[in-house]
Amino acid sequence: MTVAQALAPLVDLIWPPRCPLCGEGIGAQTGLCTPCWSKLEFPEVEDGVVAAVAYNDPARELVLAFKRGGRISLAPVLARMMAARLGPLDGDWLAVPVPLHRWRLWQRGYNQSALLAREVAGPAGARLVVDGLVRRKNTPSLGRLGSVARAHVLEGAIAANPSRVAQLAGANVLLVDDVLTSGATTRACSAALKAAGAARVKVVCFARVGLD
Ligand SMILES: [Zn+2]
Repeated sequence: MTVAQALAPLVDLIWPPRCPLCGEGIGAQTGLCTPCWSKLEFPEVEDGVVAAVAYNDPARELVLAFKRGGRISLAPVLARMMAARLGPLDGDWLAVPVPLHRWRLWQRGYNQSALLAREVAGPAGARLVVDGLVRRKNTPSLGRLGSVARAHVLEGAIAANPSRVAQLAGANVLLVDDVLTSGATTRACSAALKAAGAARVKVVCFARVGLD
């Protein structure tokens, strides 16, 4: 018996493989149990935007556990679904997360999109540039704002990191977000990347909120 084999029951006892949604035991640390998995909805891939799942109730629970509940161990699970929907990329790509303002980063302790970008980059064959974009203004939640107000709030809020501009110029960029709602934030990010000379920008997110 190897040490790993000897320790396996102990590891399972400390951290049993459980479905993050319902808590049911699952065979391995691979993701969700089959009944929870079957509740997820898989949207059509739109031009330029790839979403792993639609933002329905189970998807929202996953995101909230990941984002607010500090369940950073969910990052590989969510990212695996994103990478599977993304498929292989042609050519060289950089993976850049939607940036979080440093105050929010400080409050939460991590940028959820950066964790996803780190996990998606590998299977997608992209190189992670975690600080490709920076948030210069701490913007309020965009949830209740109309499209014009959203664009106004975001004006000048997101920019390419000056120390990354040389790397971004001419590059294909995979922009990584956790939840895509109106698309205002990803549009601001795309504009900043294009302004820095990015050749192509493709958006990949975990969950896509239905267009309103
Ligand atoms: Zn489950």
